[in-house]
Amino acid sequence: MSRFYRIGLDEYCFLRELDGTQTVAAILTRLAQRAGGQTFSENEALEVLQWLRQNDLLAVASNVTNKHQNELKLWKSALWLNPLLLRIPLARPDRFFAWLAAKTRIFLGPLGFVIWLAVLIWGAGAIALNWESFARDFVGVIWQYNGALLLAVWLVIKILHEISHGVFCRHFGAGVREVGVFWILFFPISYVDATPSLALASKWRRAMVALAGIYMDLFVAACAAIVWASTDAGIVRTIAHQAVIAGTIVSLFFNANPLMRFDGYYVLSELLDIPNLATRGRERIARLGIRAHNCRSLAPAMLS
Ligand SMILES: [Zn+2]
Repeated sequence: MSRFYRIGLDEYCFLRELDGTQTVAAILTRLAQRAGGQTFSENEALEVLQWLRQNDLLAVASNVTNKHQNELKLWKSALWLNPLLLRIPLARPDRFFAWLAAKTRIFLGPLGFVIWLAVLIWGAGAIALNWESFARDFVGVIWQYNGALLLAVWLVIKILHEISHGVFCRHFGAGVREVGVFWILFFPISYVDATPSLALASKWRRAMVALAGIYMDLFVAACAAIVWASTDAGIVRTIAHQAVIAGTIVSLFFNANPLMRFDGYYVLSELLDIPNLATRGRERIARLGIRAHNCRSLAPAMLS
């Protein structure tokens, strides 16, 4: 598993100068001269160096590799041993996603978005126009539905959700490592390992990979709403009703909630441009109440 570190521009300029031949003070003086004023204080430089050491970036090359590998082993065994958090890889579908992304290319760009938006508006309109009837079905939700049917609808939506993450990731040129299931507190949560997408240069693309699941959920929900509104009472209408709820309320509750560290967490950290290391940006992050500093180095992008 590789790690990604995103650093601020000031930090980059400073780190680039660290070639082992100059003192920190000399580097800071030169940077300040170049920028026509102080760009980077001594305290900030010390903090950066400390951060490098904590993350094994300031060690001799062989040492880094060993330590990193040991850590990785430990992390993996911890995941396997912890019955509350069990990760079960199911497949390495990179080639499948590459194929699918090529086949669906036309729907992954602006045209796809226009279609998506049109279907969403149509679906929302269908629900709004028949709101009383939709709400009535909603009240009877627990008594009416067959458990197996409900599970099947969920499963299909979840699979489409994960496929969407994978396809967008591959479409933007990043590989998909594996798909599988996390067992968290004995509850299964499917995931796509889209860690290579963290290396994409555009933050909008990185955010889109994280957003792709919800994007698909809303599309499926809107299609289901159109089906629901145009069918009479029966099994199809029941399935469609269930799909609308699963694709909107449930999906948004889990995934659009940045505090739960599912998809929404990744979308937010991309859009707010929260890097691994930005001494200057930390205040802003603290104000927002998000403890995202350094998170990248610890968390691969396991999109649920
Ligand atoms: Zn997701």
